[in-house]
Amino acid sequence: METMNIGIIGCGAIGREHIKRLSGKLQGSRVVAVCDVFEDGAKKAAPLVGVDCKVYTEINAIVNDANVTALVITSPGFAHKDAVLAAVKAGKPVFCEKPLCTTAADCKEIVDAEMASGKHLVQVGFMRRYDKGYNQMKDLLDSGEFGAPLLLKCTHRAIDVDGAYTTAMAVTDTAIHEIDCLHWLLNDDWATVQVITGANTKNAHEGLCDPQVMIMQSKRGVTVLLEVYVNCKFGYDINCEVVCEGGVINLPAPSFPTVRQDCKISTMIEQNWINRFIDSYDVELQDWINNASKGEVAGPTAWDGYIAEVTADALVEAQTSGKIEKVSFGETPAFYAK
Ligand code: NAP
Repeated sequence: METMNIGIIGCGAIGREHIKRLSGKLQGSRVVAVCDVFEDGAKKAAPLVGVDCKVYTEINAIVNDANVTALVITSPGFAHKDAVLAAVKAGKPVFCEKPLCTTAADCKEIVDAEMASGKHLVQVGFMRRYDKGYNQMKDLLDSGEFGAPLLLKCTHRAIDVDGAYTTAMAVTDTAIHEIDCLHWLLNDDWATVQVITGANTKNAHEGLCDPQVMIMQSKRGVTVLLEVYVNCKFGYDINCEVVCEGGVINLPAPSFPTVRQDCKISTMIEQNWINRFIDSYDVELQDWINNASKGEVAGPTAWDGYIAEVTADALVEAQTSGKIEKVSFGETPAFYAK
Protein backbone atom coordinates (compact mmCIF):
# COMPACT_ATOMS: atom_id res chain seq x y z
CA MET A 1 0.00 0.00 0.00
CA GLU A 2 1.36 3.39 -0.99
CA THR A 3 1.87 5.72 1.97
CA MET A 4 -0.70 8.53 2.13
CA ASN A 5 0.85 11.97 2.60
CA ILE A 6 -1.57 13.76 4.86
CA GLY A 7 -2.28 17.44 5.36
CA ILE A 8 -4.00 18.37 8.66
CA ILE A 9 -6.32 21.39 8.71
CA GLY A 10 -6.91 22.66 12.28
CA CYS A 11 -4.25 22.04 14.93
CA GLY A 12 -6.30 22.19 18.14
CA ALA A 13 -7.13 19.42 20.61
CA ILE A 14 -8.23 16.62 18.27
CA GLY A 15 -5.98 17.82 15.43
CA ARG A 16 -2.91 17.21 17.60
CA GLU A 17 -4.28 13.82 18.71
CA HIS A 18 -4.80 12.74 15.08
CA ILE A 19 -1.35 14.05 14.05
CA LYS A 20 0.23 11.75 16.64
CA ARG A 21 -1.67 8.66 15.54
CA LEU A 22 -1.27 9.36 11.79
CA SER A 23 2.46 9.95 12.04
CA GLY A 24 3.47 7.20 14.43
CA LYS A 25 0.85 4.69 15.41
CA LEU A 26 -1.06 3.82 12.23
CA GLN A 27 0.12 2.03 9.08
CA GLY A 28 0.22 3.60 5.62
CA SER A 29 0.19 7.30 6.47
CA ARG A 30 2.48 10.15 7.35
CA VAL A 31 1.68 13.79 8.06
CA VAL A 32 3.59 16.07 5.68
CA ALA A 33 1.82 19.41 6.23
CA VAL A 34 -0.29 21.18 8.84
CA CYS A 35 -2.52 24.22 8.56
CA ASP A 36 -4.15 26.47 11.12
CA VAL A 37 -5.53 29.95 10.59
CA PHE A 38 -3.33 30.92 13.52
CA GLU A 39 0.25 30.28 12.49
CA ASP A 40 1.39 29.70 16.07
CA GLY A 41 -1.07 26.82 16.43
CA ALA A 42 0.31 25.17 13.28
CA LYS A 43 3.94 25.82 14.27
CA LYS A 44 3.37 24.21 17.66
CA ALA A 45 1.75 21.16 16.05
CA ALA A 46 4.41 20.62 13.35
CA PRO A 47 7.06 19.12 15.72
CA LEU A 48 4.57 16.36 16.68
CA VAL A 49 5.14 14.92 13.20
CA GLY A 50 8.78 14.17 13.96
CA VAL A 51 10.01 14.90 10.40
CA ASP A 52 10.02 17.96 8.16
CA CYS A 53 6.51 19.26 7.97
CA LYS A 54 5.21 22.22 5.97
CA VAL A 55 3.23 24.84 7.87
CA TYR A 56 0.34 26.65 6.21
CA THR A 57 -2.25 29.21 7.30
CA GLU A 58 -4.35 29.04 4.13
CA ILE A 59 -6.62 26.12 3.22
CA ASN A 60 -6.19 26.22 -0.56
CA ALA A 61 -2.40 26.25 -0.16
CA ILE A 62 -2.31 23.01 1.86
CA VAL A 63 -5.00 21.30 -0.23
CA ASN A 64 -3.18 22.07 -3.46
CA ASP A 65 0.32 21.18 -2.18
CA ALA A 66 1.35 18.50 -4.71
CA ASN A 67 2.99 16.45 -1.95
CA VAL A 68 -0.27 16.25 0.04
CA THR A 69 -2.33 13.29 -1.19
CA ALA A 70 -5.13 13.34 1.42
CA LEU A 71 -6.60 15.73 3.98
CA VAL A 72 -7.76 15.42 7.60
CA ILE A 73 -9.97 18.29 8.76
CA THR A 74 -9.96 19.05 12.48
CA SER A 75 -10.87 22.73 12.45
CA PRO A 76 -14.09 23.89 14.17
CA GLY A 77 -17.35 22.82 12.47
CA PHE A 78 -18.06 26.24 10.95
CA ALA A 79 -14.80 25.99 8.97
CA HIS A 80 -15.36 22.47 7.56
CA LYS A 81 -17.35 23.32 4.43
CA ASP A 82 -14.68 25.34 2.58
CA ALA A 83 -11.96 22.82 3.43
CA VAL A 84 -13.98 19.76 2.34
CA LEU A 85 -15.12 21.44 -0.88
CA ALA A 86 -11.51 22.42 -1.68
CA ALA A 87 -10.37 18.80 -1.15
CA VAL A 88 -13.20 17.43 -3.32
CA LYS A 89 -12.35 19.96 -6.04
CA ALA A 90 -8.72 18.79 -5.89
CA GLY A 91 -9.89 15.14 -6.13
CA LYS A 92 -8.16 14.23 -2.82
CA PRO A 93 -9.61 11.91 -0.14
CA VAL A 94 -10.72 13.83 2.92
CA PHE A 95 -11.52 12.74 6.47
CA CYS A 96 -13.60 15.44 8.17
CA GLU A 97 -14.24 15.47 11.92
CA LYS A 98 -17.88 15.69 12.93
CA PRO A 99 -20.03 17.62 12.19
CA LEU A 100 -19.58 17.58 8.42
CA CYS A 101 -20.92 21.18 8.43
CA THR A 102 -23.04 23.18 10.81
CA THR A 103 -26.13 23.36 8.53
CA ALA A 104 -27.89 20.76 6.43
CA ALA A 105 -27.74 23.07 3.40
CA ASP A 106 -23.92 23.23 3.61
CA CYS A 107 -23.70 19.43 3.98
CA LYS A 108 -25.91 19.04 0.90
CA GLU A 109 -23.49 21.21 -1.09
CA ILE A 110 -20.72 18.76 -0.20
CA VAL A 111 -22.91 15.76 -1.13
CA ASP A 112 -23.69 17.38 -4.50
CA ALA A 113 -20.02 18.27 -5.13
CA GLU A 114 -18.84 14.74 -4.28
CA MET A 115 -21.47 13.11 -6.52
CA ALA A 116 -20.56 15.52 -9.34
CA SER A 117 -16.89 14.55 -8.96
CA GLY A 118 -17.89 10.90 -9.49
CA LYS A 119 -15.36 9.82 -6.82
CA HIS A 120 -15.91 8.59 -3.25
CA LEU A 121 -13.74 11.04 -1.36
CA VAL A 122 -15.40 12.13 1.91
CA GLN A 123 -15.55 10.31 5.26
CA VAL A 124 -17.04 11.91 8.41
CA GLY A 125 -15.54 11.37 11.88
CA PHE A 126 -18.42 9.59 13.56
CA MET A 127 -16.03 7.34 15.47
CA ARG A 128 -18.61 5.56 17.62
CA ARG A 129 -19.30 3.28 14.64
CA TYR A 130 -15.78 1.96 15.29
CA ASP A 131 -16.16 1.56 19.07
CA LYS A 132 -15.85 -2.02 20.27
CA GLY A 133 -18.84 -1.77 22.64
CA TYR A 134 -21.22 -0.31 20.05
CA ASN A 135 -20.09 -2.96 17.54
CA GLN A 136 -20.78 -5.72 20.06
CA MET A 137 -24.25 -4.27 20.61
CA LYS A 138 -24.84 -4.07 16.86
CA ASP A 139 -23.80 -7.69 16.38
CA LEU A 140 -26.25 -8.78 19.10
CA LEU A 141 -29.07 -6.72 17.58
CA ASP A 142 -28.34 -7.92 14.04
CA SER A 143 -28.23 -11.55 15.25
CA GLY A 144 -32.01 -11.35 15.83
CA GLU A 145 -31.66 -13.30 19.10
CA PHE A 146 -33.19 -10.44 21.08
CA GLY A 147 -36.08 -9.75 18.72
CA ALA A 148 -36.99 -6.28 17.50
CA PRO A 149 -35.57 -3.24 19.31
CA LEU A 150 -38.34 -1.15 20.93
CA LEU A 151 -36.77 1.53 23.08
CA LEU A 152 -33.31 2.99 23.77
CA LYS A 153 -32.27 4.79 26.95
CA CYS A 154 -29.03 6.70 26.54
CA THR A 155 -26.93 9.24 28.42
CA HIS A 156 -24.27 11.60 27.11
CA ARG A 157 -22.76 13.28 30.17
CA ALA A 158 -19.64 15.41 30.43
CA ILE A 159 -17.91 16.95 33.45
CA ASP A 160 -18.34 20.54 32.25
CA VAL A 161 -18.24 22.84 29.22
CA ASP A 162 -16.77 26.28 28.62
CA GLY A 163 -18.71 29.54 28.41
CA ALA A 164 -18.87 29.43 24.60
CA TYR A 165 -21.03 26.26 24.66
CA THR A 166 -24.64 27.03 23.75
CA THR A 167 -27.97 25.23 24.21
CA ALA A 168 -27.95 24.40 20.48
CA MET A 169 -24.47 22.84 20.81
CA ALA A 170 -25.98 20.18 23.07
CA VAL A 171 -27.39 18.94 19.74
CA THR A 172 -24.83 20.03 17.14
CA ASP A 173 -21.67 19.17 19.10
CA THR A 174 -22.80 16.56 21.61
CA ALA A 175 -25.96 14.63 20.59
CA ILE A 176 -24.72 14.56 16.97
CA HIS A 177 -22.80 11.41 17.98
CA GLU A 178 -25.99 9.61 19.08
CA ILE A 179 -27.92 10.97 16.07
CA ASP A 180 -25.50 9.16 13.76
CA CYS A 181 -24.54 6.14 15.83
CA LEU A 182 -28.02 5.08 16.95
CA HIS A 183 -29.57 5.11 13.47
CA TRP A 184 -26.59 3.00 12.31
CA LEU A 185 -27.13 0.67 15.28
CA LEU A 186 -30.83 0.26 14.45
CA ASN A 187 -30.51 0.19 10.63
CA ASP A 188 -33.28 2.77 10.64
CA ASP A 189 -33.75 6.49 9.93
CA TRP A 190 -35.14 9.22 12.20
CA ALA A 191 -38.73 10.35 11.60
CA THR A 192 -39.51 12.79 14.45
CA VAL A 193 -37.66 14.53 17.28
CA GLN A 194 -38.54 16.45 20.43
CA VAL A 195 -36.58 18.19 23.20
CA ILE A 196 -37.64 18.58 26.83
CA THR A 197 -35.95 21.00 29.21
CA GLY A 198 -36.84 21.66 32.82
CA ALA A 199 -34.93 22.05 36.05
CA ASN A 200 -31.47 23.45 35.26
CA THR A 201 -28.25 22.64 37.07
CA LYS A 202 -26.74 25.55 38.99
CA ASN A 203 -23.43 24.55 37.37
CA ALA A 204 -24.55 25.67 33.88
CA HIS A 205 -23.47 29.14 32.77
CA GLU A 206 -26.16 31.75 32.13
CA GLY A 207 -28.37 30.99 29.15
CA LEU A 208 -27.43 27.30 28.85
CA CYS A 209 -30.20 24.70 29.26
CA ASP A 210 -28.61 21.75 31.02
CA PRO A 211 -29.64 18.94 31.21
CA GLN A 212 -31.86 18.32 28.18
CA VAL A 213 -33.83 15.23 27.22
CA MET A 214 -33.95 14.54 23.49
CA ILE A 215 -36.54 12.13 22.17
CA MET A 216 -36.01 10.70 18.71
CA GLN A 217 -38.37 8.27 17.02
CA SER A 218 -37.29 6.18 14.05
CA LYS A 219 -39.34 5.38 10.95
CA ARG A 220 -40.09 1.93 12.41
CA GLY A 221 -41.27 3.59 15.65
CA VAL A 222 -38.27 2.82 17.88
CA THR A 223 -38.04 5.56 20.54
CA VAL A 224 -34.76 6.94 21.90
CA LEU A 225 -34.66 8.81 25.21
CA LEU A 226 -31.34 10.64 25.32
CA GLU A 227 -30.15 12.60 28.34
CA VAL A 228 -27.55 15.23 27.43
CA TYR A 229 -26.01 16.63 30.62
CA VAL A 230 -22.78 18.50 30.04
CA ASN A 231 -22.08 19.88 33.54
CA CYS A 232 -22.60 16.66 35.46
CA LYS A 233 -19.26 17.14 37.30
CA PHE A 234 -18.60 13.43 37.89
CA GLY A 235 -17.21 12.14 34.60
CA TYR A 236 -17.57 11.54 30.86
CA ASP A 237 -20.37 9.04 31.09
CA ILE A 238 -21.73 7.45 27.92
CA ASN A 239 -24.44 4.82 28.35
CA CYS A 240 -26.76 3.05 25.97
CA GLU A 241 -29.41 0.47 26.75
CA VAL A 242 -31.54 -1.16 24.07
CA VAL A 243 -34.83 -2.68 25.23
CA CYS A 244 -35.86 -5.40 22.78
CA GLU A 245 -38.84 -7.74 22.55
CA GLY A 246 -36.73 -10.61 23.86
CA GLY A 247 -34.31 -8.98 26.31
CA VAL A 248 -32.20 -5.94 27.12
CA ILE A 249 -28.73 -5.10 25.77
CA ASN A 250 -26.50 -2.74 27.73
CA LEU A 251 -23.37 -1.05 26.36
CA PRO A 252 -20.28 -2.32 28.17
CA ALA A 253 -18.30 0.72 29.38
CA PRO A 254 -14.52 0.33 29.25
CA SER A 255 -13.57 -1.40 32.49
CA PHE A 256 -11.58 -0.05 35.42
CA PRO A 257 -10.55 -2.03 38.50
CA THR A 258 -13.12 -2.23 41.26
CA VAL A 259 -11.54 -1.31 44.58
CA ARG A 260 -12.61 -2.05 48.16
CA GLN A 261 -11.57 0.55 50.70
CA ASP A 262 -13.06 2.41 53.68
CA CYS A 263 -16.13 0.15 53.77
CA LYS A 264 -16.91 0.96 50.12
CA ILE A 265 -16.64 -0.74 46.73
CA SER A 266 -15.88 1.77 43.95
CA THR A 267 -14.94 1.94 40.27
CA MET A 268 -13.56 4.94 38.40
CA ILE A 269 -15.60 6.73 35.74
CA GLU A 270 -13.81 7.94 32.59
CA GLN A 271 -12.96 11.65 32.71
CA ASN A 272 -12.81 12.71 29.06
CA TRP A 273 -13.72 11.85 25.50
CA ILE A 274 -10.10 11.36 24.36
CA ASN A 275 -9.66 8.34 26.63
CA ARG A 276 -13.20 6.94 26.33
CA PHE A 277 -12.94 6.56 22.54
CA ILE A 278 -9.16 6.39 22.11
CA ASP A 279 -9.21 2.94 20.47
CA SER A 280 -12.07 3.85 18.13
CA TYR A 281 -10.11 6.83 16.74
CA ASP A 282 -7.26 4.47 15.88
CA VAL A 283 -9.55 1.90 14.21
CA GLU A 284 -11.51 4.63 12.42
CA LEU A 285 -8.49 6.36 10.90
CA GLN A 286 -6.79 3.07 9.99
CA ASP A 287 -9.97 2.02 8.16
CA TRP A 288 -10.08 5.40 6.41
CA ILE A 289 -6.42 5.06 5.29
CA ASN A 290 -6.94 1.48 4.05
CA ASN A 291 -10.02 2.38 2.00
CA ALA A 292 -9.13 5.90 0.85
CA SER A 293 -5.90 4.58 -0.64
CA LYS A 294 -8.11 2.32 -2.85
CA GLY A 295 -10.46 5.21 -3.73
CA GLU A 296 -13.21 3.87 -1.42
CA VAL A 297 -15.09 5.09 1.66
CA ALA A 298 -16.21 2.30 4.01
CA GLY A 299 -17.13 4.49 7.00
CA PRO A 300 -19.68 7.28 7.47
CA THR A 301 -20.15 9.17 4.21
CA ALA A 302 -21.02 12.75 3.31
CA TRP A 303 -24.63 11.53 3.01
CA ASP A 304 -24.45 10.29 6.64
CA GLY A 305 -23.08 13.72 7.58
CA TYR A 306 -25.97 15.36 5.74
CA ILE A 307 -28.79 13.31 7.30
CA ALA A 308 -27.24 13.77 10.76
CA GLU A 309 -27.32 17.52 10.21
CA VAL A 310 -30.95 17.45 8.96
CA THR A 311 -31.82 15.65 12.22
CA ALA A 312 -29.73 18.11 14.24
CA ASP A 313 -31.52 21.06 12.60
CA ALA A 314 -34.89 19.51 13.57
CA LEU A 315 -33.72 19.01 17.17
CA VAL A 316 -32.52 22.63 17.40
CA GLU A 317 -35.90 23.72 16.04
CA ALA A 318 -37.59 21.51 18.68
CA GLN A 319 -35.55 23.16 21.45
CA THR A 320 -37.32 26.45 20.81
CA SER A 321 -40.70 25.27 19.48
CA GLY A 322 -41.25 22.75 22.27
CA LYS A 323 -43.06 20.65 19.63
CA ILE A 324 -42.47 17.32 17.96
CA GLU A 325 -40.59 18.17 14.75
CA LYS A 326 -40.43 16.07 11.58
CA VAL A 327 -37.11 14.97 10.11
CA SER A 328 -37.26 14.97 6.31
CA PHE A 329 -34.70 14.06 3.72
CA GLY A 330 -34.95 12.23 0.41
CA GLU A 331 -33.99 8.67 -0.46
CA THR A 332 -30.30 7.74 -0.19
CA PRO A 333 -28.77 8.48 -3.62
CA ALA A 334 -27.52 5.38 -5.47
CA PHE A 335 -24.00 6.87 -5.23
CA TYR A 336 -24.09 6.34 -1.43
CA ALA A 337 -26.01 3.04 -1.29
CA LYS A 338 -23.92 0.40 0.53
P1 NAP B 1 -10.13 23.22 18.88
O1 NAP B 1 -9.29 22.69 20.01
O2 NAP B 1 -10.78 24.55 19.01
O3 NAP B 1 -9.21 23.20 17.58
C1 NAP B 1 -9.58 23.74 16.33
C2 NAP B 1 -8.33 24.38 15.72
O4 NAP B 1 -8.62 24.84 14.41
C3 NAP B 1 -7.83 25.57 16.53
O5 NAP B 1 -6.42 25.57 16.57
C4 NAP B 1 -8.36 26.74 15.71
O6 NAP B 1 -7.63 27.90 15.93
C5 NAP B 1 -8.20 26.20 14.31
N1 NAP B 1 -9.01 26.87 13.29
C6 NAP B 1 -10.06 27.71 13.44
N2 NAP B 1 -10.56 28.07 12.23
C7 NAP B 1 -9.78 27.44 11.29
C8 NAP B 1 -9.76 27.43 9.87
N3 NAP B 1 -10.65 28.14 9.17
N4 NAP B 1 -8.81 26.70 9.24
C9 NAP B 1 -7.89 25.99 9.95
N5 NAP B 1 -7.86 25.97 11.31
C10 NAP B 1 -8.78 26.69 11.96
O7 NAP B 1 -11.28 22.21 18.54
P2 NAP B 1 -11.28 20.61 18.69
O8 NAP B 1 -11.85 20.24 20.02
O9 NAP B 1 -9.98 20.06 18.30
O10 NAP B 1 -12.40 20.24 17.61
C11 NAP B 1 -12.13 20.31 16.20
C12 NAP B 1 -13.20 19.54 15.44
O11 NAP B 1 -13.15 18.18 15.88
C13 NAP B 1 -14.64 20.02 15.69
O12 NAP B 1 -15.39 19.84 14.53
C14 NAP B 1 -15.13 19.08 16.78
O13 NAP B 1 -16.53 18.91 16.77
C15 NAP B 1 -14.42 17.79 16.39
N6 NAP B 1 -14.20 16.90 17.53
C16 NAP B 1 -14.57 15.61 17.37
C17 NAP B 1 -14.44 14.74 18.43
C18 NAP B 1 -14.85 13.31 18.27
O14 NAP B 1 -15.04 12.64 19.28
N7 NAP B 1 -15.00 12.80 17.07
C19 NAP B 1 -13.88 15.16 19.63
C20 NAP B 1 -13.46 16.49 19.74
C21 NAP B 1 -13.63 17.35 18.68
P3 NAP B 1 -8.09 28.87 17.16
O15 NAP B 1 -8.16 28.04 18.41
O16 NAP B 1 -7.01 29.87 17.25
O17 NAP B 1 -9.43 29.39 16.75
